Amino acid sequence: MRLVLLGPPGAGKGTQAELIKEHFNIPHISTGDMLRAARAAKTPLGQQAEKYMEAGELVPDDIVVGIVAERLAQPDCQNGFLLDGFPRTVEQALALERTNTRVDAVISIEVPRDILVERLSGRRICRQCGRAWHVQFNPPPSLQRCQCGGELYQRSDDQPETVRQRLDVYEAQTSPLKDWYRQRGLLVAVDGNQPIEAVFADILSALGVSR
Ligand code: ADP
Ligand code: AMP
Repeated sequence: MRLVLLGPPGAGKGTQAELIKEHFNIPHISTGDMLRAARAAKTPLGQQAEKYMEAGELVPDDIVVGIVAERLAQPDCQNGFLLDGFPRTVEQALALERTNTRVDAVISIEVPRDILVERLSGRRICRQCGRAWHVQFNPPPSLQRCQCGGELYQRSDDQPETVRQRLDVYEAQTSPLKDWYRQRGLLVAVDGNQPIEAVFADILSALGVSR
């Protein structure tokens, strides 16, 4: 399976990715996670990306396209992959096409904007395993600790002002990809405003796969 997860910040892409990657045994490739790792390691790429991420803007296409192309060339992607947070612009989608990477389906997770704001402001991430929790909708075992024992933190771009900017950027720059992929017969839309397991069940049935 070669899949792309599309949807606004907070739609549940990372949450569903954990379930999808287990089900299909494919690597989960999140450009957001890769860029955060590059920032934490203070690589030149991470330092370049930092100001865009802090402002809730997109990192320039050439930077992101480069890291994805490198990742997709790894042997573990030969039998499939799950892209999360990429492509985010038509230019990125064209760049992916130019690498002759076949995509089987693009799953668009749809959630109303007011719910997205609630989800992002209550999101807590594990420093150790990267899992996303929500203080109210998907509460961790304790407010400070993940199930794996790792420490939980709040992403700096999950502050209300940056959240609004990221949602605007999604509408302006990423949502046109829905029509773009629909025209190519690849788009499947799923209602993301349901419990996590129900969203996952809808994704599997939209892909024509049984549990
Ligand atoms: P994305 O990767 O699309 O930005 P996440 O998977 O990190 O989104 O989810 C955003 C927040 O919403 C997290 O705090 C997560 O625990 C919570 N969440 C994810 N899916 C659901 C859902 N179906 N219902 C309620 N909360 C959810
Ligand atoms: P995410 O973890 O997907 O919410 O992404 C966090 C931030 O990383 C975004 O707000 C962007 O600044 C940057 N980013 C992640 N993926 C991309 C992408 N495909 N193109 C441009 N910027 C990206």
